[in-house]
Amino acid sequence: MVKDERYVYSACCTWHGSINEVGAMAPSPEVWAGGRRNDLERGHRLPCCPHCGSPLMEYDSRAEWDAGMEKFIAAQPDGFDAPLYRRWMQSLHDSGTCVPLKGWDWRSAMKEFGESK
Ligand SMILES: [Zn+2]
Repeated sequence: MVKDERYVYSACCTWHGSINEVGAMAPSPEVWAGGRRNDLERGHRLPCCPHCGSPLMEYDSRAEWDAGMEKFIAAQPDGFDAPLYRRWMQSLHDSGTCVPLKGWDWRSAMKEFGESK
């Protein structure tokens, strides 16, 4: 069997990780009231953030995710702390929780992370 290398990130929160770490959300009964209940009974689930249930986006691999991160870092102004950013991004996966993106100030969150280390 081919190993699934996909790497996913949340659409609505800070979590990212391997496709093998995702949660599985059963759609609400309201969603399934429209005659598609058989899908749910067959065990179909939607992959989601393991902490909050947010839907996910995906890359083909962790390497692709890392390349995207490096591209983001390269686009930042001079003086941007790239090593801190990389550690902080990994901490968003390792923390065992997630933070909703709505109203979230990533620069402040990264700064707080750096000050706590
Ligand atoms: Zn989440």
